[in-house]
Amino acid sequence: MFKNLAYILLFCLDLKSANADSCKFNINEHRPSISEVEASGISVRSEDGNALEDLFNYCSNDVVIKFEEGDCSDSKVTKNLKKTIFKLVELIDQEWEGERKLRITEAWDNNAEHTKYSLHNEGRAADITTDDRDTKKLSKLACLAMAAGFSWVKLEKDHVHASVPR
Ligand SMILES: [Zn+2]
Repeated sequence: MFKNLAYILLFCLDLKSANADSCKFNINEHRPSISEVEASGISVRSEDGNALEDLFNYCSNDVVIKFEEGDCSDSKVTKNLKKTIFKLVELIDQEWEGERKLRITEAWDNNAEHTKYSLHNEGRAADITTDDRDTKKLSKLACLAMAAGFSWVKLEKDHVHASVPR
């Protein structure tokens, strides 16, 4: 009798841990399974960074920005992306108990490095990792990005690409 109860208990505990870890991304997997354009809307090139919001104040606080262009221009984003990034910062803080920060390697791109249809052109997409650049954390980070409200999330080999609607 007690043995059976113990088995049931173990079974329940097992289910619980399985659920907690059930979100996993494989490399090149994106969610939802529809295209990014369908999920986040088509990209319109934004030549004018002034229309975007600055993440500058977060460069050295909760978010680590990779200064690819020597200033904070990479950190410009739309209002919606800014809001979603701040939500993700909270979730990262909870997940890794303040030990890890969000690292953004690319947001708005004014150097036309991306394709014509990239949402980076419009400041609606971000390429992200954790600040320790641990690729083993990327699947979890992609799951947190979904939970934060990004409308389309893809796990690339060395970063997560995530976008929001306009
Ligand atoms: Zn990207």
